[in-house]
Amino acid sequence: MAYTGKYPTRPDAEDCSFFIRTGTCKFGSSCKFNHPVLTVFTLCPRLMG
Ligand SMILES: [Zn+2]
Repeated sequence: MAYTGKYPTRPDAEDCSFFIRTGTCKFGSSCKFNHPVLTVFTLCPRLMG
């Protein structure tokens, strides 16, 4: 089971664009955006075009 553990998951908030792109977030646990568990889509950018 993959879980970042480091960043908050906020289903009611927008996804953190920086986290989505890079897999990291400089704001860490204090970031106000959502940090979903990374999937095959975020790990394989070529599938996104
Ligand atoms: Zn963030």
